[in-house]
Amino acid sequence: MARTNTVNKAAKDVGNCLVCRKELKKGDAYKWFKPYRSRKRVACTTCHFKNSHTCTSKWVTIYEAMEQLEDVANEFDYRTDISEVEDAVQELTDACEEVESEYREAAEAWGDAGAEMEEKADNIEDWDTDVDFDEKPHELDDDDEPKNDDERDALEAWVCDVQSAVEDMLGNCPGEM
Ligand SMILES: [Zn+2]
Repeated sequence: MARTNTVNKAAKDVGNCLVCRKELKKGDAYKWFKPYRSRKRVACTTCHFKNSHTCTSKWVTIYEAMEQLEDVANEFDYRTDISEVEDAVQELTDACEEVESEYREAAEAWGDAGAEMEEKADNIEDWDTDVDFDEKPHELDDDDEPKNDDERDALEAWVCDVQSAVEDMLGNCPGEM
């Protein structure tokens, strides 16, 4: 992780907070960090950078996909199409494959010194990001509502199942090493 610095009074406008998008103007307090080979990132002093913001490694791709999936799962309800969650899961799977193959390429280029890269690639490969969701138990009526209380209960239980399946999968993330 890149080190975060705090400035009490900006000498000039510094752009928008990476987290809440608030404009940070001359005179405002803000914090910043600069990822390796990337432009400076800024945020309000009260906002928190996420892993994907400060991460400088290949893992940033995976973290971003994880955060996106988390958001989609948190906002999921029985009116949302399950394909939104499935798409976000697929994006995470793609991100993992991409990062895994980058590590494999790096490992090859490094020869004997690439053992660590190989291990990182193996860890990602071992992480099973596939999630199977049950079919939506009931279709909604014309007002986008369950037809009765039983159907509402079943739909709410299904939403919980979808959310915990995502949570379980994310919980198995091997993490950056
Ligand atoms: Zn902010």
